[in-house]
Amino acid sequence: MKSCPQEINVERIFDGAADSAALRSHLDACPSCRAYLAGLERMRAGFAVRKAAPEIADAQLPAFLRQLQDRVEAAPAARPVRLWAMFSAATAALVVTVSVLSIVSTGPKPIEATVIEERSTEIQGATTAVTVADDGTTTVWVHVPEGDMW
Ligand SMILES: [Zn+2]
Repeated sequence: MKSCPQEINVERIFDGAADSAALRSHLDACPSCRAYLAGLERMRAGFAVRKAAPEIADAQLPAFLRQLQDRVEAAPAARPVRLWAMFSAATAALVVTVSVLSIVSTGPKPIEATVIEERSTEIQGATTAVTVADDGTTTVWVHVPEGDMW
C-alpha cells in the first residue's frame, strides 16, 4: 500500500499530540492512514502485554531461585516436561545461566598466578607486570593510573 503524506499526522493523533475534525475526516477517507493507525495501536497493545508480565527484581532473585529449585525438586520425576512448560524461555535461560555459574564455582580452584617481573614504563605512573600461572600461561599486565592515559 502506498503511504500517505498525512501519516505524520496519524502519528500525532496516536501520540495524543494533535487531533482535529480535519484529521479525523482524512482518517475516515484514507485507508492507508487507517491501516497505519491500526498498526500503531496493535504495536502499543503488544507493548502493554509485555509490560504486564511480572519482572523479577534483583532483591527477589534469591527467593525466586529457591522457589524454582523447590518446584523442580518437588516435581514428580515422571513429568518433567510439564513442569518445564510452566517456565518462560527467559526463565529457562536464567536456570541455564545459574547452573553454568554453579559448575564454574564448584570447578577447579582458580589458577594462582605469581608476579615474576615488574617494570615501570615511560607512561607517567604506569607499570607493567608479567605473571606466569601454574599452567604456564604468561600474562603481561599494564597498569595505567586511572584518567591519566589521555
Ligand atoms: Zn492518509
